[in-house]
Amino acid sequence: MTKMSTDDQGLPEEIRNALLPVRRDLATAGVALTFENARPEDTPPHLLGADTQHAWARLGGRVVGQVAIDLAKTAALRTWYLADQIQDYVLETPWESGKAVSWPSCLSGHAHPMKAEILGDDVWWVCPRELSVRVRVGWHPGRFLTRTDITNG
Ligand SMILES: [Zn+2]
Repeated sequence: MTKMSTDDQGLPEEIRNALLPVRRDLATAGVALTFENARPEDTPPHLLGADTQHAWARLGGRVVGQVAIDLAKTAALRTWYLADQIQDYVLETPWESGKAVSWPSCLSGHAHPMKAEILGDDVWWVCPRELSVRVRVGWHPGRFLTRTDITNG
């Protein structure tokens, strides 16, 4: 965990906490996305809410976009929103190898990525075809899921 702290220097505590489970899943899958603080003056006015925190997302050293949380929302909603935004950046960004990335991987044999959803008070990666195929955000194994991974949820 101490190694990860170099990536998020300068990030306000709330967005750092909301990012934690998403970053765990990125790291497990080997996706090198890093985040750094974005000041309000660096943020397009249409993205600025009354009480928001922002971070730049970098992939392979290149800025791919900004992520934000609304401090008026619950912890689960903040993480859900970040997971959703970050997934868009990962899926939209071409990789050096040129191969498509499906993050996070779904059940073995499913070509689609999983989708972030709030179920109860927790944020989950859920199969878009089978709602019972799901793992908590922060606990994805970083590879195609097996039925064993799912029963633990
Ligand atoms: Zn699936």
